[in-house]
Amino acid sequence: MNKYDVVVVGGGTAGCAAAYTAGMAGLKTLIIEKNIHLGGTITSGLVIPVMKSGNNQINTEFRNALIEECRKLGGQTTFQDNPAWFNPEITKIALDNLMKRAHVEIFFDTNILGIKIENNMIKRIKITKEILSAYNDEIEMETKKLSVSVGARYVIDATGNCVVGKICNCNFLEKDHEFQPVTLRFMMAGINLRKFSEWLKVYDKDRNVTVIQEIDGYIHLSTAYTWDKDKKWALEPIFKDAVKQGVLKRYDTNYFQIFTVPGMPDTVAFNCPRIIDYNNSLEVKSISKALLLARQNIYRYLQFCRKYFPGFENAYISNMADMLGVRVSRRIKGKYVYTIDDLRSGKKFSHPVVISDYPVDVHSNKKAESRLEKVKDYQLPIESLMSADIDNLFVAGRCLSADFLSQGALRVQGSCFSMGEGVAKYIASLLA
Ligand SMILES: Cc1cc2nc3c(=O)[nH]c(=O)nc-3n(C[C@H](O)[C@H](O)[C@H](O)COP(=O)(O)OP(=O)(O)OC[C@H]3O[C@@H](n4cnc5c(N)ncnc54)[C@H](O)[C@@H]3O)c2cc1C
Repeated sequence: MNKYDVVVVGGGTAGCAAAYTAGMAGLKTLIIEKNIHLGGTITSGLVIPVMKSGNNQINTEFRNALIEECRKLGGQTTFQDNPAWFNPEITKIALDNLMKRAHVEIFFDTNILGIKIENNMIKRIKITKEILSAYNDEIEMETKKLSVSVGARYVIDATGNCVVGKICNCNFLEKDHEFQPVTLRFMMAGINLRKFSEWLKVYDKDRNVTVIQEIDGYIHLSTAYTWDKDKKWALEPIFKDAVKQGVLKRYDTNYFQIFTVPGMPDTVAFNCPRIIDYNNSLEVKSISKALLLARQNIYRYLQFCRKYFPGFENAYISNMADMLGVRVSRRIKGKYVYTIDDLRSGKKFSHPVVISDYPVDVHSNKKAESRLEKVKDYQLPIESLMSADIDNLFVAGRCLSADFLSQGALRVQGSCFSMGEGVAKYIASLLA
């Protein structure tokens, strides 16, 4: 059986940061990823750009390395003072390169079959996949599936849904009603962005939501509309007309946001459709209904954009995310349960892994009830990433040990990077 210092389950936002940091620290590191590429919500979920988490962020080496690697490959730009404006396809390659640099082994397309626990410690993880060519000599036939076990001194659960914690029967914090709407993000191509930006500059002349900039000869922009807030949205008359004409349903107007994508000069990425009716991200029926609704919604957005936005006449759907965008699901019970009071008061801790001032960003499924609460710098302690139940299990990412409202601030990608990096550095110090 192969034994690793660190096994990272889930090669997404936090998992990649954790694995890269562990590998660069000289630890024998494995990523187990159920998909066939790294990146999680950034790549599979098309959640781009990666937003800034404040000016005093710590544990940013991985973020900087990713920015640099994407830049080298032509899949990065700096827009709105944010250098983490990524191209999701190039990010997949950049992450492969970073893991190679850090000597991280990766098992793609791999699922966990079971976990062996002894004396409150994970000893082995049994994984399954159809082809295990590298480990042919160890393959056992079990439950008619090919499986193999890997040993781990420390395990980092970076699956978003805390799958390892669930298999280990850990305690959790989530309550039935505590969800945020889910979103199936997508991209549209075939757009004449210059034409669209000229029109948008005039249409949103007050620039209350639109930002447009030409960078290295390419147009970059972002704009939005939502029914949520009591604010004058420049695009509101267009959305109202589209509902009147039957191009969109009223429901479709709950949230609309677009961003340009570096290296894709005719493309925009959509931070929508936001599905407010089915938001229980731990319930398969709810998720399935959300996906069915979302794809219908995306098709209506295509008709809408072609009809109302100059420059979109020949637009087409170029990519739908292969992962439903989930903002919150399972949250582990850690050695410390972080609270909204800790966050609002900026409580200090002896071993912080995250410093951020990203607002409390909670999307609601009720009209006008979403919140974006500005806060000052806050710290997250390492103990919120330690399982209370299993001694060698850490978590990183949105499944951290935090109450619902504070998770609404800490779930963002910049903070997930810091969590992954912070956990890996902590483990490296334990093994030193
Ligand atoms: C619609 C939407 C918009 C958002 N907008 C922003 C934004 O603008 N800015 C921002 O900073 N943040 C944003 N966020 C939040 C942020 O994207 C996520 O909270 C964050 O990326 C979560 O990171 P993670 O590492 O916890 O999970 P992920 O990045 O989802 O990674 C989890 C990984 O684990 C893998 N995995 C899952 N189960 C298993 C398993 N059993 N075995 C092996 N692998 C497994 C997955 O394939 C994936 O690669 C948004 C989120 C959503 C949903």
